[in-house]
Amino acid sequence: MRAMVYRGPYKIRVEEKDIPAIEHPNDAIVRVELAAICGSDLHLYHGMMPDTRVGTTFGHEFIGVVHEVGSSVESLKPGDRVMVPFNISCGSCYFCSRGLLSNCHNVNPNATAVGGIYGYSHTTGGYDGGQAEYVRVPFADVGPTVIPDWMDDEDAVLLTDAVATGYFGAQLGEIREGDTVAVFGAGPIGLVAAKTAWFMGAARVIVIDHLEYRLEKARSFAHAETVNFAELDDVVVHLKRTTDGLGADVAIDAVGAEADGSFLQHVTSAKLKLQGGSPVALNWAIDGVRKGGTVSVVGAYGPIFNAVKFGDALNKGLTLRMNQAPVKRQWPRLFEHIRNGHLKPSELVTHRIPLEHIAEGYHIFSAKLDGCIKPLVVPGAN
Ligand code: NAD
Ligand code: ZN
Repeated sequence: MRAMVYRGPYKIRVEEKDIPAIEHPNDAIVRVELAAICGSDLHLYHGMMPDTRVGTTFGHEFIGVVHEVGSSVESLKPGDRVMVPFNISCGSCYFCSRGLLSNCHNVNPNATAVGGIYGYSHTTGGYDGGQAEYVRVPFADVGPTVIPDWMDDEDAVLLTDAVATGYFGAQLGEIREGDTVAVFGAGPIGLVAAKTAWFMGAARVIVIDHLEYRLEKARSFAHAETVNFAELDDVVVHLKRTTDGLGADVAIDAVGAEADGSFLQHVTSAKLKLQGGSPVALNWAIDGVRKGGTVSVVGAYGPIFNAVKFGDALNKGLTLRMNQAPVKRQWPRLFEHIRNGHLKPSELVTHRIPLEHIAEGYHIFSAKLDGCIKPLVVPGAN
């Protein structure tokens, strides 16, 4: 089969690989019809995530057709069209049975923290991902769901991560009626968090980024107020000014470890590798939220950080909530929102790239060229 293969930071190729085989009776092999590139893949692409091994295939957002099932699989059969959550979970351990599907204890040798994720380094189990013609799906009775016939494929593929994660980010904010919600990052995750914050009772939603074309999307897709931090001396002071000097009730970090906005942080992380990334957006969230407020973190962070304003978070009495999104837990409500027409995830899609050209897709998405918000990858196209 053809598959995206990582060859080192900023080096991606499409190569020939063996079609994955059933390794366990509850595996399925899925022929991928549509995949996506996620902001998380960019951390791998930039060489920021530990234990990202050369030769592996990325891709944790995908839909496809069941090609083969193991002997114990009961809920799927060959020919079923399925959407596959990015989390690999056993469905029955201490954590899965409490709904912590992203923290499964049985799918990753590093399971003291994260569970399993497709194509997201050996830190999350070393599974090959779905930016390929075929992918092995473990615990096939737990994660995948048959795509409802009323659902569009592009909505389905975004539900396997971006939409579920953005919605989860808003949920972690514990938004109450009348709240002002500040969302850092106008990528797919931040845009969905901003859009769905309204569903939870927000009275104001403010999206912060420095890419004007993405802020435009925040206005049109999420009906949010926008702030371009590059035009301000101090984004936190600005946020306070527009919130009676108090700060937002809720701040959502949908940026993660590669935040821009501080030259010093950029040098100590990306250049000198003295820390695992830049906590600029996280610190802006901590500073920009009012005392007693909630900071929700869905932006991804890798290893150790310096200079996170933890003392301020303590002294302000903040609630900090965070996790990798437990995708399948979000689906019932999101299915409803999509079916009712409140949410149209495919409005975020800007690029549809044949698998053979995936390297170009990574470049465009990483460098934020050509108005790129969400690129899809199409294995069948040429
Ligand atoms: P993206 O790269 O498309 O978007 C990130 C945005 O943040 C960009 O528009 C960028 O300009 C902006 N940005 C950079 N520095 C900023 C700053 N200091 N303040 C405000 N905005 C800033 O990525 P995405 O697909 O939207 O993903 C966002 C984050 O969410 C990534 O870290 C990704 O790894 C993470 N993620 C987490 C989960 C999870 O389950 N927790 C799932 C998917 C993605
Ligand atoms: Zn992702």
